[in-house]
Formats: sequence, structure tokens, C-alpha cells
Amino acid sequence: MLRFLQNSPHALELVYAGTSKMLVPFRRVMKRGSRMERLFIHLEKWTKGATFDCRMCGQCVLHSTGMTCPMTCPKELRNGPCGGVRANGYCEVLPDRPCVWSQAWERSRKMPLYGQEILHVLAPVDRRLKDTSAWVNHLHPELLKPPAGWES
Ligand code: SF4
Repeated sequence: MLRFLQNSPHALELVYAGTSKMLVPFRRVMKRGSRMERLFIHLEKWTKGATFDCRMCGQCVLHSTGMTCPMTCPKELRNGPCGGVRANGYCEVLPDRPCVWSQAWERSRKMPLYGQEILHVLAPVDRRLKDTSAWVNHLHPELLKPPAGWES
């Protein structure tokens, strides 16, 4: 089931697009430190943990990475693949596993809505957002400011 979901990125991007729109009216109640955030932290741990092996970075970029979590790369690369990916598309560090970024690329090719976003350079991870709700942060872009001096 999990593999089926991961390999159905178009269905997942539709869920993402729908959820993004559906949550906009709740922006005012979904704030940092609110009860709603605590609820969403649990929901995200449970749903995204089961589906994407989410590491709760708090700044979700799944729609930009072929619905494949970049934090599951052993090097936690936000932009990949690294120079060590093997010719067979497997990981340099964990040779028995496919490269997360190679999978991200393949899956992004099946995403008509957001597939091109994989070509954008992503900001470095802001570790201060770890274990916060990515949906709350998504609704409040001011919480997602990239580090000073960083430009895409
Ligand atoms: S990008 Fe961050 S929030 Fe999204 S699934 Fe990966 S660890 Fe979780």
C-alpha cells in the first residue's frame, strides 16, 4: 500500500493542492503554539510519517521533490542528487537502497501540477522549525523565511 501511494505522485499532488486550498480559511486559528498546531503536529506525524517516512522538518517540500521526502536521504540533502549516486540509481551511503533523489526525479515526471518545481533550488533547512507543523508554517510564509543572505 505504501509503495503504491509513493508511486502515485499525481494522486498525492492532488491531495496536496486540495488541502492547501481547504486550509486557507483556517489561517487565523492555525497559529504557532495553538491547539490547532498541536493537533496538526500529531496528524502530520501519523499521516506523513506512515506515507513518506516524514522526519518533521516543519518546512515541507514534498510537492517540489516528487512527493519524496528529501530528509530521508542519508545526507539530508535539500537539493540532490549528490555526486555519489551510483550508476544503477542507488545510494552511495546505503548501497542497498535507491537514491531518494533519483526516485524524486522519476516521480516528479508523473506530476503535471508541480513536477517542474524539482528544477528550483530549495532553501537550506531551517532546523529551528523541526517538530513544528509544516501546514501551520505553510499558512504563515513569514515563518519560512530562508536564512539571511540566501537567494535561490
Ligand atoms: S519535507 Fe519535512 S515535513 Fe515534508 S515529509 Fe519530509 S521531513 Fe516531513
